[in-house]
Amino acid sequence: MNRAYNFNAGPAALPEEVLQKASGEWLDIFNSGMSVMELSHRSKEYEMIHEKAHHHLRDLLNIPDSHDILFLQGGASLQFSMIPMNLLTQGKTASYVLTGVWSDKAFQEAKKIGDVVVAASTKQHRYTHIPSLHSIELAEDLAYVHITSNNTIYGTQWHSFPDTGDIPLIADMSSDILSKPLDISKFGLIYAGAQKNLGPSGVTVVIIRKDLIKDGLDHIPTMLQYKTHSDHHSLYNTPPTLSIYLLSLVLEWVKNQGGVEAVEKLNQQKAEQLYSVIDKSEGFYKGHAKADSRSYMNVTFTLPNEALTKKFLDQAKQSGFIGLDGHRSVGGCRASIYNAVPLEHCEKLANFMVNFKKDNISLLLSHEV
Ligand SMILES: *Cc1c(COP(=O)(O)O)cnc(C)c1O
Repeated sequence: MNRAYNFNAGPAALPEEVLQKASGEWLDIFNSGMSVMELSHRSKEYEMIHEKAHHHLRDLLNIPDSHDILFLQGGASLQFSMIPMNLLTQGKTASYVLTGVWSDKAFQEAKKIGDVVVAASTKQHRYTHIPSLHSIELAEDLAYVHITSNNTIYGTQWHSFPDTGDIPLIADMSSDILSKPLDISKFGLIYAGAQKNLGPSGVTVVIIRKDLIKDGLDHIPTMLQYKTHSDHHSLYNTPPTLSIYLLSLVLEWVKNQGGVEAVEKLNQQKAEQLYSVIDKSEGFYKGHAKADSRSYMNVTFTLPNEALTKKFLDQAKQSGFIGLDGHRSVGGCRASIYNAVPLEHCEKLANFMVNFKKDNISLLLSHEV
C-alpha cells in the first residue's frame, strides 16, 4: 500500500495508525459482533466510546470544569448561526475580528440574527496578517468577541490572543485545535469542525463555558440550543457515532504522540521545513502571510506567474503530492500540514520545491516561462 502525500485542507490526512486500528475493529468492535456504525447510541459499548472521546479531549486540552464539551453536527458553519442565536441577546452587540473568508462568513451569519460590529479587519491588506492586539477596538458591554484562530484559506494564525476581560472570547478553531497547548479558561466558547485536526467530517466540537449555556431560549429550535445538547451530554438525538469513534481514536493517537506539547513541536518543525524553502528561494516562492502571522497549519505561497504555478501543481501531482492547489478564492498554492501529516511528507515536499526551483529558474530568467 502506498499512502498519498496528502496536503488536503479538509477533510484532510488522518493518522495511519488510527485507520489501521479502525480497520481492525471494522466488522466487530469490542466482541459485540457488530461494527461501530451498527451499535445503538444507547448501548454500553457506544457509551464507552462517547465517554472516551470526552475524557481524552478534556485531558489533552486541559479543559477546566467550568467548561462543557459538546459533540454537535452541522459543521463549523452551523456554529456561525448557533453562536449568535444563543448568545447575542436583544439589546446587545457582538464584535467580530475579520481575518479571512471564514470569519467573514461567521460575521455575515451573525448579522442575520442581531447587532454586530467589526472590531478589526485586515481585508484591505488581502488578509496577509492578523491585526495587532492593540488595534482591536472593543466597546463595553459586548455579548462576545469572535475571532478565527487559524485562517485556513489565507494561511495566517493568531500566535497570542486578545485579553477581552469580562467579554466572552469566542474562537473558530476548526483548523488549529489540538495543534498546540491552549489556555481554555480565556475563552467563552471554542468550536471546530473535526475534519481538519480532529478526525473525519460529521462531528463538530464545541467547548463552552457553562455560564453561557442559557435557559429560556424557547423561541429557538430545540436542536439549536446549546442547553439541549449540554443537558443530554450530546445524546439528545442520534450523534454521529462513527465520527465520534474516529475522533476518540485520533485523540488517543495524540496522547500516544506525547500530547499537544509534543505535537506542537513537530508541527513547528514541519512548517519550518516549508517556510525555510520559501524564505531561501530569493523570491521564487512568495509566502502569502506576513512572517509574524504565519500559520503552522496552512502554508500558502505563490510562484512568479500563472504558467509556473500550473506547472508546479501538475508536476507535484505527478510526484504524488495531493491537495496543493490554493483555495479557489485566492489561487496560488497551499500545503495543509495538520497534526496527522508526517514530518517526512513535509521534507519530501520541501525537497520537491527546491528541485522545482532549480529546474525552472533559468527558464524564468530567460523568459521562457
Ligand atoms: C473548514 C473551516 C470551516 C467550515 O467548516 P465546516 O465544518 O465545513 O462547516 C469554518 N471555519 C474554519 C476556520 C475552517 O477552516
